[in-house]
Amino acid sequence: MKKTIYDFTYEQLNTWLMDKGEKSYRTKQIFQWLYRRRITDFAMMSDIKQSLIETFNEDFVIDPIKLKQRQASKDGTVKYLFELQDGFLVETVLMQFDYGKSVCVSSQVGCNMGCTFCASGLLKKNRDLSAGEMMAQVMYVQKELDVREERVSHIVIMGTGEPFDNYDNVMDFLKTVNHDLGLAIGARHLSVSTCGIVPRIKQFAREKVQYNLAISLHAPNDALRSKLMPINQAYPLSDLMDALKEYSTLNNRRITLEYILLKDVNDQPEHATQLSKLVKGMNAYVNLIPYNVVDEHGFRAVDVASALKFYDKLMKLGVKSTLRKENGGDIDAACGQLRAKAEGKL
Ligand code: SAH
Repeated sequence: MKKTIYDFTYEQLNTWLMDKGEKSYRTKQIFQWLYRRRITDFAMMSDIKQSLIETFNEDFVIDPIKLKQRQASKDGTVKYLFELQDGFLVETVLMQFDYGKSVCVSSQVGCNMGCTFCASGLLKKNRDLSAGEMMAQVMYVQKELDVREERVSHIVIMGTGEPFDNYDNVMDFLKTVNHDLGLAIGARHLSVSTCGIVPRIKQFAREKVQYNLAISLHAPNDALRSKLMPINQAYPLSDLMDALKEYSTLNNRRITLEYILLKDVNDQPEHATQLSKLVKGMNAYVNLIPYNVVDEHGFRAVDVASALKFYDKLMKLGVKSTLRKENGGDIDAACGQLRAKAEGKL
């Protein structure tokens, strides 16, 4: 299996080219071909000498993914199922908002975190995705949008996988996306979501970057959170909250706390009260998310009226929160749903 050229950050490509005796302006040229003109074949790089194009052809591919399935929703959400070079499948979602177009990227093939409500966990992790395999998901969508002269403006790493279980590749990917000569998407338009791997949150806090950090909280006390999310047994809420305080001390960025509303599980008034105590004084807001039902798991979604009640209670308690609108409800938009179906697990 050949590596994709998208794996390289600007600095890595530069080093690779220097080792081959090239001048550093080559790096700039090649990045422009890849990320501005968005070529699909090395031979299209008309100002690059033939011998270098041959080396690229021998060592790399540009596009390491193939479209297997595409589902478009009436609200503009598009879900893609891609096949990687070794046959594994990953999902990507395009969401269209008033403020722009956001791509939800998968970071691993499957996931080992075992969250009890999530479709991704139905399929254990096979392997990490490389930086370039994440990049390729965005590039595929961007190339589709190019036809309409539209642009991916936001990226969220909220597809299948735990990004902080694939930390280095995720950071490399974001570097290229953010790079002036890459896709040049502003750091504040890039979000990483984690189930709460505390040492990596602390590491992330020390990166000098402006990316958004989202935490999948989903429960306001340890007993419930440990039941829903096994990661909580390794890193309980007190450790998680300490890491988030550390992040806030080092970064002047607001943290998003994701909270899926699960009927009769975490949606009661006492949960709102506990949640308010947990986040008191933090530079954070709670994003209430409607649950996309995964039949296998037995959890139920909360109706709009109850969601609003929970939201109101949080507001009364002084917790900043938002109620996320559901997108792609008419397609298999829950994380991992499309892939799990394709693999016969749903
Ligand atoms: N592993 C990372 C990122 C992938 S999951 C994380 O845990 O944050 C992205 C978000 O979708 C998480 O908040 C996750 O808990 C949530 N999610 C998973 N399954 C869902 C479902 N069926 N409906 C709604 N949200 C879901």
